[in-house]
Parts: sequence; structure tokens; C-alpha cells
Amino acid sequence: MIKKEQLYEGKAKKVFKTDDKERLIVEYKDDATAFNGLKKGTIAGKGIINNKMSNLLMQRLEKFGVPTHFVKELSDRETLVKRVSIVPLEVIVRNISAGSFSKKYGVEEGIVFKKPTIEFSYKNDSLADPLLNEDHAIALGLATAEEIELIKKYSFKINDVLKAFWLECGITLVDFKLEFGKLFDGTIVLADEISPDTCRLWDTKTGEKLDKDRFRRDLGGVEGAYAEVMKRLTAHI
Ligand code: UDP
Repeated sequence: MIKKEQLYEGKAKKVFKTDDKERLIVEYKDDATAFNGLKKGTIAGKGIINNKMSNLLMQRLEKFGVPTHFVKELSDRETLVKRVSIVPLEVIVRNISAGSFSKKYGVEEGIVFKKPTIEFSYKNDSLADPLLNEDHAIALGLATAEEIELIKKYSFKINDVLKAFWLECGITLVDFKLEFGKLFDGTIVLADEISPDTCRLWDTKTGEKLDKDRFRRDLGGVEGAYAEVMKRLTAHI
């Protein structure tokens, strides 16, 4: 596979074309941003961890019947993926109150929900990713009703699989963000990444935060937390 010109540079990844029009190469960076790009920094080694972690988790999800964009890990930071057009929805699944949920509804962090919740925001940086409901997404032409149904079904399945897996690692899956894409033939697959950048992961015993909140909230020990999650994952996958 030949890596060709850069197609796009995002906050945490670069995307390159290849000689196959249906394949792209994603390259993970150490750059970190938070609060819609207002806070910027680097987390040394994050790109390597997120690349490998996302690939291992996506391969596990495939085994449980969730289609993903993953094709092949090419190097520490590079992965070959199926080319998709991203559905411009950020899908957030929550098991426990935290972050924007706690802030918006005025509740403490750590309330364990009886059943998981799902919410969508419109993936649009200039609008700061506003929250929307399914009807809004359909009205805006972001996805069809059938696509949203499938995205919901996959998202709850992903939650079941990941929650159980992280528990084996002594980690509580609090919440996470997913992005889906459409292949050339319209098939919906999981895209983007699954990593401590996109999930809240708490140590089950101590409650210690092992995710990007350490960077967002200046808690220190960011690199160590990412490395700890990766260590536990490789020991259990
Ligand atoms: N999240 C993300 N990208 C975003 C917004 C949220 O990956 O642009 C993840 C975040 O890491 C957390 C979950 O989605 O695991 C829920 O985030 P929340 O809505 O609580 O927003 P935040 O507090 O991160 O602003």
C-alpha cells in the first residue's frame, strides 16, 4: 500500500490517501486539545497508545458483530482503514454521570445509571458540536432514520462489549464518544478511534481517572494514566 498525499489534518490525527481509492492511512499524533480546541498540549506517546488501543478494541468489536473501518496496523502510529464518509454525528453513550452531563443537569459525577443513555451532537466545530435529537439529525439530512437506528444498535452493543472488557481490566467505562462512517456502498461502520481521548475510564477500585480528563483538568500524570490503561488492556485482550 503506497501512502500518498495528506487528505486532512485533524486535532489528533492526520489522514492520507493511498493508491487504493477505498483505503486511507490514519496517522496518530501526540497533540491533545480540549474545550473545542481552546486548550492545547501534547501527551508524549499518546499517538502510539491510541493507535494500538483503538485497533485492538475494534478487532474485538468485529468479533462481536460490529463492523469497523479497521483494516491493518501498519506501524506504531499508522493504520490502514476503509475510506468512509463520516456521518456528522458524535454519538455519546454514558453509564455513569460525568463531564458535560453533570454540568448541564447539575448533578455530581459518579451516579450509576440504571440503563445506559445515548445522545447525539452535530459534528461541527464552528457551532461547537451542538446537542441534537434524532428528528433534528434527520431534518438536517445528517443521517436517515434507518441509519440512526443502526447507529444506536451498534452503540449499545459497543457499550456492552467494552464495559465487560474494561471491567476485566479493573477499569470502569463511564462514558465514550463514537463516530460512524459510510463505506462507498452505504454500509455503516464504526470509524474514528476508541481510546482514553474518547472514553472516560476510572480505576474500578480507587476511582482514579485514567483518561483525557487528567489533561482537561490539569490533574497531572497524563502519560502514566494512558500507559497504565494500555498495560492492562494488553494483559487482558
Ligand atoms: N468526547 C469526545 N470528544 C468530544 C466530546 C466528548 O471524545 O468532542 C468524549 C469524552 O471524552 C467523554 C464522552 O465523550 O468520554 C462524554 O463527554 P462529555 O459530553 O461529558 O463532554 P466533556 O465533559 O468531555 O466536554
